[in-house]
Amino acid sequence: MHIDLHTHSTASDGTDRPADLVAAAAAAGLDVVALTDHDSSAGWAEASEAATRHHISLVPGLEISTMLAGASVHLLGYLLDPAYEPLQAELELILRARDTRLADVVERLQHCGVDICEADVRRHAGGALAVGRPHVADALVASGVVASRDEAFNTWLDRGRPGYVSRYATATPRMVELVTAAGGASVVAHPWGRGSREVIDAESVETLAAAGLVGLEVHHHDHTGSDSRMLETIASEHDLVMTGSSDYHGTGKVNHELGSHVTPTEEYERLLDRARVNALASRREVATVAGG
Ligand code: AMP
Ligand code: ZN
Ligand code: FE
Ligand code: FE
Repeated sequence: MHIDLHTHSTASDGTDRPADLVAAAAAAGLDVVALTDHDSSAGWAEASEAATRHHISLVPGLEISTMLAGASVHLLGYLLDPAYEPLQAELELILRARDTRLADVVERLQHCGVDICEADVRRHAGGALAVGRPHVADALVASGVVASRDEAFNTWLDRGRPGYVSRYATATPRMVELVTAAGGASVVAHPWGRGSREVIDAESVETLAAAGLVGLEVHHHDHTGSDSRMLETIASEHDLVMTGSSDYHGTGKVNHELGSHVTPTEEYERLLDRARVNALASRREVATVAGG
């Protein structure tokens, strides 16, 4: 089985609509794909419906913005109940912070003489609830300031660059607990990617595992081969599930093609088992795998 557990659609900062992403995943030969937009489940319904048509399994998920010791950690939450009020309240805080940050980013760029306005960025975000830096990047590309999203981040938007503004994110252990209480399973996304590398280590993984963490995304474009092997060691010490994923963003991110990193079938089965246990304990009506 070919299993890719981390992708983004136009419901956040990907460039494929949810249904088109599912069609592309089926065309790429995947058997299972998870839709994990940033901080929003808005794409789930469209993706689930498309999964039935394309005979592929769709795992509903989220990539949630969290913070650990001052660093940004992305937490994947799968198969949870999105209506769980405490979780919903946190996601609303995060989305609102994304929204208010936008005006600050635009103002900073304008101060640097960049010709950009908030309406431009919102047009590039389409209807996405999770407005993000990639949409600012798209506006900069469209107006010819930079040639690509990548250049926009390197020159203007990354931490330490002139347009960078931090925003609210939930404490990581708290979000692990919320995902669990919502009946789902949490996995740290690209643990040794940008940002989280400085704070994810054997000690913090132990703390997160005690809070209910289910897995680590061991295989990802941001990791070298030796990173992945070390992460496997840390994961096995805490009996954590080891996933692998593309983190596909459509044309928004190069070298992240669908299926470019995948999850072994037995690890996927373990993830489903853990999610099932959490769903039962939560007594909540969780989102389930669609299509197939
Ligand atoms: P934000 O969610 O607004 O903080 O923006 C972070 C998002 O930007 C993440 O989802 C990354 O995938 C994306 N991103 C970060 N660096 C780059 C880059 N160099 N090129 C394209 N996308 C990027
Ligand atoms: Zn993204
Ligand atoms: Fe991420
Ligand atoms: Fe991602």
